[in-house]
Amino acid sequence: MADQLFDKIAIVGLGLIGSSIARGVKERGLAREVVGYDLAPEVRSRAKELGICDEIAESADTAVVDADLVIVAVPVGATEAAMKAIAHGLAEGAIVTEVGSVKAAVIRQVLAVLPELAVFVPGHPIAGTEHSGPDAGFAELFDGRWCILTPCERSTGASVEKVAALWRALGSAVETMTPEHHDIVLAITSHIPHLIAFNIVGTAADVEDVTQSEVIKFSAGGFRDFTRIAASDPVMWRDVFLHNKDAVLEMLGRFSEDLAALQRMIRWEDGAALEELFTRTRAIRRSIIEAGQDTEEPDFGRPHSHDD
Ligand code: NAP
Repeated sequence: MADQLFDKIAIVGLGLIGSSIARGVKERGLAREVVGYDLAPEVRSRAKELGICDEIAESADTAVVDADLVIVAVPVGATEAAMKAIAHGLAEGAIVTEVGSVKAAVIRQVLAVLPELAVFVPGHPIAGTEHSGPDAGFAELFDGRWCILTPCERSTGASVEKVAALWRALGSAVETMTPEHHDIVLAITSHIPHLIAFNIVGTAADVEDVTQSEVIKFSAGGFRDFTRIAASDPVMWRDVFLHNKDAVLEMLGRFSEDLAALQRMIRWEDGAALEELFTRTRAIRRSIIEAGQDTEEPDFGRPHSHDD
């Protein structure tokens, strides 16, 4: 067991991320008490059945009473409403943090509604799966991953350090950066790749002379890996694109230019240029494996009982 870092942690939103934090905190003894709340009654009763918190509150403001740390883990578009809902219950000096995949727009919304008595440390764990809900969470989700903190005008040095200590205790390495920089970095490393996956899976579904059954049958040719990403939570991703609009559109502009260059290479049969690009991209995959961010196993370590 690690050292206890907080007395009472309240977690608002008990989906994949919130329930994983709750499990990790309880398993490692990082707080004396973990109280959870979710807007959805069925999620609250499921969280009770699963026993992922010490207590499940019936309202957001009662959940956060006397909590020294409040973690809001709801979709980006619901963060402002969740912050308003906890406002009356917050204790003097409480640290409020959140885990949204977009930072600048969320911070602007939170600063407008969070009472002065609380401090605010925005964060984003770079960890997740394509599943959502309280059953999808697990205590090791953050192990060996990064968590980015983007301090703002309502963060104090001590509060940033306490939130960083929690993420480290959950197994993550912590980096701090500005919210704007976070949004650009994540646009290219996460948001655009998801957009490409949503797009290609949508296109495949619409191609008239390829049947649905062929798309499924021959999916191992690369398509299957896109379908995993494209199965991600629709509400979460709708909110990410609506809230990180500027950075996504800027990166999408660059992406489109590069795609046009690739189109030209194919049209002009410029094999050398294609090979040069694919050699560079293969090297990037190698660096990701060397950094311990993915497995070296062929086909992501999927079991192969026969060749597909
Ligand atoms: P999730 O599994 O869908 O869970 C979110 C939960 O929050 C749902 O149970 C939802 O209930 C509830 N909720 C919505 N509005 C609420 C409110 N006002 N008050 C209390 N609960 C509310 O989503 P998640 O994957 O955990 O994502 C949560 C946050 O983490 C998002 O901001 C996302 O950007 C961020 N994040 C996600 C990942 C990932 O890979 N999934 C990774 C890093 C960060 P309903 O279902 O009824 O709406």
